[in-house]
Amino acid sequence: AHRHVTVSAGEKITKGTDGKLNVPDNPIIPYIEGDGTGIDIWKASVRVFDAAVGKVYGGKRRISWMEVYAGEKAFGMFRDSLGERAWLPNETVDAFLEYLVGIKGPLTTPVSGPIRSLNVALRQLLDLYVCLRPVRYFQGVPSPVKRPEDVDVAIFRENCEDLYAGIEWMTGTSDCDRFRRFLLNDMGVDKVRFPESSSFAVKPISREGSQRLIKAAIEYALRNRRKSVTIVHKGNIMKFTDGAFREWGYEVATSLFRQQVVTEREALILDSLDRKPSLSIEEIARLLEPGYDLMSPRQQEAAHNEICSALSLQATHGAGKWKKFLVVRDSVADITFQQVLSRPKEFDVIAAMNLEGDLLSELLAAQVGGIGIAPGANINYETGHAIFEATHGTAPKYANLNKVNPGSVILSGVMMLEYMGWQESADLITRAIDRTIGQKLVTYDFERVMQGATLLTCSGFADALINNM
Ligand code: NAD
Repeated sequence: AHRHVTVSAGEKITKGTDGKLNVPDNPIIPYIEGDGTGIDIWKASVRVFDAAVGKVYGGKRRISWMEVYAGEKAFGMFRDSLGERAWLPNETVDAFLEYLVGIKGPLTTPVSGPIRSLNVALRQLLDLYVCLRPVRYFQGVPSPVKRPEDVDVAIFRENCEDLYAGIEWMTGTSDCDRFRRFLLNDMGVDKVRFPESSSFAVKPISREGSQRLIKAAIEYALRNRRKSVTIVHKGNIMKFTDGAFREWGYEVATSLFRQQVVTEREALILDSLDRKPSLSIEEIARLLEPGYDLMSPRQQEAAHNEICSALSLQATHGAGKWKKFLVVRDSVADITFQQVLSRPKEFDVIAAMNLEGDLLSELLAAQVGGIGIAPGANINYETGHAIFEATHGTAPKYANLNKVNPGSVILSGVMMLEYMGWQESADLITRAIDRTIGQKLVTYDFERVMQGATLLTCSGFADALINNM
């Protein structure tokens, strides 16, 4: 097959045996420019990254950008040799596998062919199980809510499981008929309201998948000195998937991180003890579980165990120390959707399954001014593989007009620099964005809804950022 990627001079980022990334001073980073507006945005963004790295490390460090191809550009180049596979050529996937860390602009989703979505395919091929969406406010950005500055949340969305796994059958197909017969006849399911005309989807939620996601969320919270991790679920209804996600989450929190984590219920126990040290275990149990006396002996024992583990935390660390611990709590999804809007300050790091995580990410991003500036990353913390990306699409009607907001790709680059440990250069860009938007120097999407703003082009916004470094 034809090869189109030219390997740049530089070195590979690798993963050390200690689990840490080894980032050389001249790392090779594969990038996909993206389709549609991706081309304008990438040109602007890469100048911002290079300027920040140059300014902070003065030539000692430099990124070697290596273009790899996907989407329409790849289709044009590879069509003859690869047929339908040209949308996402193997050498692109191989480059991300080999060089660990990469970045991409938006890609057109092929309307037909073997690949449903290039983004989903990349996530699956590299097993990028975390979709990380940090959502924070930049002063001055037009927002639909009264206090957007209260939003500062990092969402860890599980990226491989759930109803998004794509295991579904359309009603009327022979596979759907087989699945329905299996459910009704072999499994004795009698809860399908209209079996003959139902389509079906399967929702896999595993212990491994849930625990690696929640572990990553807790580690992030500890590393970034965040106060809480909220596990979002609908476990009151879907007991063996969502309910298990919650249980497995607490299991990982209280086994792997016992010396740094307190659950919200343990915090309640210790707080009531701080107020009244003479409380007996039974009395604490009644405070914790209002129905304690009516509970089965097994449930009572579970409550006792929880109280004992809280007490031993207190005994190991000394009174009051738990107040400095990371709080792990859980929240039912429907209420969470209300509260991230009405009390966003109470949310810090969120761990959620694929579907709910997707929706929550968009809801939170909308509160801080949304689509042009929300960044994202897809990460496997075990192998080190990560792809940072714009969260918006290709906005084809604005392509080649040098018009749209490059903020989403630029902020995903900020996340990438942080991931590489080049924190100073990431901070420099963040401060420049703060300053530039503060000066009301913005692209059309913000300009049209801001009072007294100056309209900049896509590349002009990049220039303004570089001036503000
Ligand atoms: P879109 O995000 O491309 O555009 C929707 C609207 O959002 C645009 O009309 C524009 O008003 C606004 N917008 C988007 N990006 C902006 C920016 N950088 N600055 C200012 N405004 C911006 O969504 P769509 O029109 O539904 O999708 C177009 C194509 O992109 C489709 O092929 C779709 O599959 C693909 N897509 C790709 C990704 C991805 O690669 N991550 C994500 C979503 C959609």
